Amino acid sequence: MRKKILLLGATGSIGKNTVSIIEQYPEDFELIGLSAHSNIALLNELCERFKPRFICVSTDHEASFRFSYTEKAQIYYGNEGLRKIVQEADADIIVNAIVGAAGLLPTYHAVKLGKVVALANKESLVVAGELIHQEIQKSGAALYPIDSEHSAIWQCLLGEDKKNIRRIILTASGGPFINRNADSFDTITIDEALNHPNWKMGNKITIDSATLMNKGFEVIEAYWLFGVSPAQIKVVIHPQSIVHSMVEFIDGSIKAQMGIPDMKIPIQFALTYPERKPCITNSSLLFSGMQLVFSDPDEKQFPCLTLAYRAIEAGGAAPAILNAANEVAVQAFLEGKIKFSLIPSLIDAVLQEQQNRSVSELEDYLSADRRAREMTKEKVARYA
Ligand code: NAD
Ligand code: MG
Repeated sequence: MRKKILLLGATGSIGKNTVSIIEQYPEDFELIGLSAHSNIALLNELCERFKPRFICVSTDHEASFRFSYTEKAQIYYGNEGLRKIVQEADADIIVNAIVGAAGLLPTYHAVKLGKVVALANKESLVVAGELIHQEIQKSGAALYPIDSEHSAIWQCLLGEDKKNIRRIILTASGGPFINRNADSFDTITIDEALNHPNWKMGNKITIDSATLMNKGFEVIEAYWLFGVSPAQIKVVIHPQSIVHSMVEFIDGSIKAQMGIPDMKIPIQFALTYPERKPCITNSSLLFSGMQLVFSDPDEKQFPCLTLAYRAIEAGGAAPAILNAANEVAVQAFLEGKIKFSLIPSLIDAVLQEQQNRSVSELEDYLSADRRAREMTKEKVARYA
């Protein structure tokens, strides 16, 4: 039977890769619903191609949504629309490829309903990992990671007992500035920061990869997905991005998952699991002459990684504050308002100044997010 797929964030980098996989296997997957934010032209094109029955557009872009698609479809708008599409589309798998904290609400509503979520939106787990975890316990929902490192860990753990994990070793390419002296970080340009050596991704995650906040987020993501302590998650720099991550077991044995760096592979695994299928990527690693290098990250060069460990250890609202401050700071850098080197300093200041309240309901997380955003925007305004 064909799996019914609801694809949220269909017009982004992960969204487009997901579309290409669905298109390759029409006998396995049916794209029943789509969401998009601002790229209305691509949304229209996808609607023509796939004839989805459920469509969601962000409220900001509602006015510009000129629907050329004439088939019968249910159309939803904004955050409320994301809740409804998740509820009403009756999908077998919901792919959450939205960027940022905007992805939290659909993840939350999906896990509450006991759905299978193929999760690219790591921010859901950074902002409200505890809440999502609790809802999964109650409903029996499942998260299939799309993030390449977490897909690697998931694959290493198949057939294993989680209680036998000694450590998780998360690999990081190190981004474009791994060999650049931290003293010159304040002269980094937007173009330099967007020029990731190994992966072609959306702008926000590309900047997160350059500051290593992306790896910090992935530590938090691994914490919630695999139930290990932060001390059991080690980050290693591996500039080749061939080993996507590793699991070390209590007997000292280490399993690694490897492959060429192409997001289609982990996306497809989340869609076909527990099966495997040929992937359009279809190129093999050429082992001859290949060198795999590993080293420790430099905390002084990349303070964001330390900030993330601090936030997950503090718990409560701290990871939500970390994420919100990061989103505002990254956006400000992309708009040319602040220097690259200011991103970690701003986040650090906001983490220290915001009160770390306890959080239990969804609204607690959302208000922590709002407060931290406001404070970060005020700080940015002082530099702009
Ligand atoms: P992107 O910027 O290319 O696409 C983002 C998508 O989110 C777009 O489809 C857009 O329509 C939607 N969106 C943006 N703002 C929204 C809002 N306010 N409300 C609703 N929808 C909104 O981003 P991406 O690189 O595809 O990343 C998506 C997610 O996947 C991120 O959480 C990222 O961390 C994660 N991820 C991406 C990669 C990658 O290779 N690109 C790898 C691992 C994890
Ligand atoms: Mg990753």
